[in-house]
Amino acid sequence: MDDLIDKAAKDLANSKSAIALTGAGISIESGIPPFRGRGGIWEKFDPMEYAHIDAFTKDPAKVWNALLREMKGIIDRAKPNDVHKVLVRLESLGILKTIITQNIDSLHQKAGNKDVIEFHGNFAWHRCLDCEKRCETADINLEHIPPRCECGGIYRPEVIFFGEIIPPNHLMRSRQLSSDCDIMLVVGTSAVVQPAALMPVIAKESGAKVIEINPESTPLTDGTSDYLIKGNAGEVMSRILNQLERRIKADG
Ligand code: NAD
Repeated sequence: MDDLIDKAAKDLANSKSAIALTGAGISIESGIPPFRGRGGIWEKFDPMEYAHIDAFTKDPAKVWNALLREMKGIIDRAKPNDVHKVLVRLESLGILKTIITQNIDSLHQKAGNKDVIEFHGNFAWHRCLDCEKRCETADINLEHIPPRCECGGIYRPEVIFFGEIIPPNHLMRSRQLSSDCDIMLVVGTSAVVQPAALMPVIAKESGAKVIEINPESTPLTDGTSDYLIKGNAGEVMSRILNQLERRIKADG
């Protein structure tokens, strides 16, 4: 692993337009369970029964009781971890331009990253299905499930459920950045949710290096990624930053 960490630090030091694609794996160390993998939410729930827009429309109370209520508590308490902090440092060094995140937990922004595309929306806000009034999730009253707006309409989180389309501006900008970047760091994603998982493929086809950081291999590992650094993102990213800062110092 040491060799690959050196290699990633060197690649980043030479990069002019690095971006990152992040997934649920990077927020595990902040106490937020992922969807897939050990301890994943899908060990308890069937995604199509709880995270599909049709499931929400059919029975919002069921989805609120099983998934959203718990998620609200977990995300309310979560704080950025080492991975988020490393990505802030990479941005402030001028190396990392943008983060495309599949996460809905706002931890990149809480940590201090400025340019974050929330590909799957954001759990920080809800919207009334009837009058479209927005409400901060922190102010949502969970005494009655599903929570309702003063107009009587049901609140939904401003996240993208399965079966919904990615906001076109997010999709277009992500595709553009993916084809323009020279490095894409792919951190903590199982790379199975589309079209997010297409971004590294676009990057690779456009000539970028794709560097994966994940304890497990993914469908990208053979074919799309230049290399996989196998390990927990907190440790791996901190070590890459260490090496990179050493290099920058040595180069004067
Ligand atoms: P996923 O749940 O499908 O996969 C998690 C990935 O993280 C796996 O590949 C796993 O091997 C890896 N992983 C586990 N521990 C890790 C660690 N310590 N360091 C690095 N990687 C680690 O996640 P995904 O690919 O982002 O799935 C996409 C969907 O999950 C998105 O739609 C997203 O909205 C949703 N989601 C988001 C959150 C969040 O906002 N934190 C949490 C759960 C699910």
